[in-house]
Amino acid sequence: METRLDRYEGAREKKLAQLKQLIKESKYVVFLGGAGVSTESGIPDFRSGEGIFNQESGLSYRPVDIISHSFFEAHPEEFYDFYRRKLCYPKARPNKAHRALVRLEKQGKLKATITQNIDNLHQMAGSTTTIELHGSVFRNYCIDCKEKYDLNFILKSKGVPRCKKCGGIVRPDVVLYEEHLEHENIDNAVKAIKRADLLIIGGTSLTVYPAATFAQFLKSDRVVIINKSSTYLDLQAMLTIHDSIGDVLDTVISKYIPRKKTAAKSTAKTKSAATKAKPKTTAKSKTTTAAKAKTTTSKAKTTSSAKPKTTTKSKSSAKPKKKEKE
Ligand SMILES: [Zn+2]
Repeated sequence: METRLDRYEGAREKKLAQLKQLIKESKYVVFLGGAGVSTESGIPDFRSGEGIFNQESGLSYRPVDIISHSFFEAHPEEFYDFYRRKLCYPKARPNKAHRALVRLEKQGKLKATITQNIDNLHQMAGSTTTIELHGSVFRNYCIDCKEKYDLNFILKSKGVPRCKKCGGIVRPDVVLYEEHLEHENIDNAVKAIKRADLLIIGGTSLTVYPAATFAQFLKSDRVVIINKSSTYLDLQAMLTIHDSIGDVLDTVISKYIPRKKTAAKSTAKTKSAATKAKPKTTAKSKTTTAAKAKTTTSKAKTTSSAKPKTTTKSKSSAKPKKKEKE
């Protein structure tokens, strides 16, 4: 007798088969991800119940206020205290989601990995096509002379990190609230999406600008959403899977690209993966009503976030966060 769990599992299998088929049919896949991609690596997201925005900051300010440009300028000591404790995860390592994406990239299908994360995990997993919309905690520079510093320098410094050459403040190459994203990153992300024949959006609740509007640049209706919680694009997407991004990508991409390719792993494992890959032919792309992910905003061009910000630096406009997570 079929139980509710059976039906749930059946529906899930069907969706995974659809995703596999969509990837198979595509030649130019682009992935757009958020904090949900990193949670399985032990990095908290911002907006979920256990997210950074809901944690105690340990200071008398709200986390969401601390990671802003104006706060950074006014209270650098407190900013760095919070930043080192809550935004830097030097020991985090890539998880199944990062590794599955790299497999897809090596196969030539995945042409760009656009991330709102600042943790370098896609690159650590081997990605060479990552576009970091919000910068990276691994890159830091002196506001005055532009000398570059690594993450370790920030973590080991006390108080406000100062440049060894000129004494200027060393800041992360991360986009804080009130700061603009780098135009080059936005341009590259939009260009990739315009060329894409499949856009997979995962681990993001699509609440942060401008990433939330990127789907509108897709020229087809082939959008797939993989996120634990719902997003505003769920109903318009060709396929929506409310599940862990790591589990979904690992399951689907492992079937599509048998692990045997990567190494001489245990044959037994490969075997079972191959067998499982059978259901491939099943579902076709379920073309529901996929609408194009149109958003109300009209062309969100480069403007970005919020406030205009006058940065201190020139190039860096970075923005930190606005991440989303599931
Ligand atoms: Zn300097």
